[in-house]
Amino acid sequence: GQEEVVDPNAVIADCLVLTRHNLQKRAIAVEQNFATRRQVTFNRNELQQVMVNLIVNAVQAMPEGGTLRLSTADWNDADGSAAGVTLSVRDSGAGMAPEVLSRIFDPFFTTKKAEGTGLGLSITYAILERHGGRITVNSEPGQGSEFVVWLPCGLACY
Ligand code: ADP
Ligand code: MG
Repeated sequence: GQEEVVDPNAVIADCLVLTRHNLQKRAIAVEQNFATRRQVTFNRNELQQVMVNLIVNAVQAMPEGGTLRLSTADWNDADGSAAGVTLSVRDSGAGMAPEVLSRIFDPFFTTKKAEGTGLGLSITYAILERHGGRITVNSEPGQGSEFVVWLPCGLACY
């Protein structure tokens, strides 16, 4: 895909427009904290696909409602050799057991009965890898999950 200079906060805002109906239907509260002013070099549609995948998963983890927290922040390597942006998607849903967590990036791995293909996170992982990004997960069964996307800002960094 075509790479362009992208505002990560704007990408999240666009994803919220796409998923707004779903969030309202399930009475999910949304909290946003856009703390970066950096931009990243990325294919805009692919970054949107990454974030929609994470938001849809978060929504599906909160069938009884809850809180979706979306945030961006700067990150800087301790030795100053790299810098970029984090995009975080946090839910107050079911969380994941360790045996699930260890397989979530495998193609076709799903725990969902009907609405899952098991492809979202493997596609997300591949898109990020192709752009020099990473994804990390923290999850606590019964408390919720947080997915953090780490992007280098490359030439767009300041
Ligand atoms: P799918 O959503 O089609 O099942 P994904 O690749 O998006 O496929 O996710 C794989 C699995 O990871 C899900 O079936 C679910 O078990 C787990 N998972 C992903 N995100 C979350 C989340 N926010 N909360 C709980 N479980 C999750
Ligand atoms: Mg999914």
